[in-house]
Amino acid sequence: MGRYTGPVCRLCRREGVKLFLKSLRCDSPKCAIERRGDQQPGMHVVKRRKLSDYGSRLREKQKVKRYYGVFERQFRRYMDIAGRSKGNTGSTLMSLLERRLDNIVHRLGFAGSRRQARLLVAHGHICVNGRKVDIPSYLVSAGDTVTVKSRPKSLRFVRQNLEGFTGRVPEFLTLDKQDAPEGKVVRLPGIEDVSIPVDPALIIELLSK
Ligand code: SF4
Repeated sequence: MGRYTGPVCRLCRREGVKLFLKSLRCDSPKCAIERRGDQQPGMHVVKRRKLSDYGSRLREKQKVKRYYGVFERQFRRYMDIAGRSKGNTGSTLMSLLERRLDNIVHRLGFAGSRRQARLLVAHGHICVNGRKVDIPSYLVSAGDTVTVKSRPKSLRFVRQNLEGFTGRVPEFLTLDKQDAPEGKVVRLPGIEDVSIPVDPALIIELLSK
């Protein structure tokens, strides 16, 4: 299956929550969720039905996949890793997703959305511990530093985004905006660092069947 290239606001409306898939528009009154509430997409207004157990688990999984922009196969791989690790499977799953480099770049404010962050990484504008990393799914570790390549074009783009950044840097990261913007991973993220309401237990129940 290819990457979804349709209107992304439709995905938020399908899930009934803001997934922050666009940049500045998501925090403005133009946001489709702000304007239409959680009304489902489509020409005809369909009232949201009460979901079955399966339906609510499926929607929870789709919401998380769309929020982080990952495919089913990648998602199942994270699920496998989480299942084999010690500790709570749901928390580990969310921690793995939060540790993705494209997510870190977005949460530091270097890019307006995860989609933009993925391009920034894939085009070689981002370094981890001083070395270029162009894999958006790269998992950062505690103590890693994330910087922007010292090319005028890269720095200009990131500085522009940082100027318009109105969000809050999560507690597991620190941001130094001086000369060359630099982010540091202070600790590994946990479920409390995820910025949308999510119940990973529902996803585990769905995928462990
Ligand atoms: Fe569109 Fe962003 Fe609002 Fe989602 S949160 S509906 S992507 S503007």
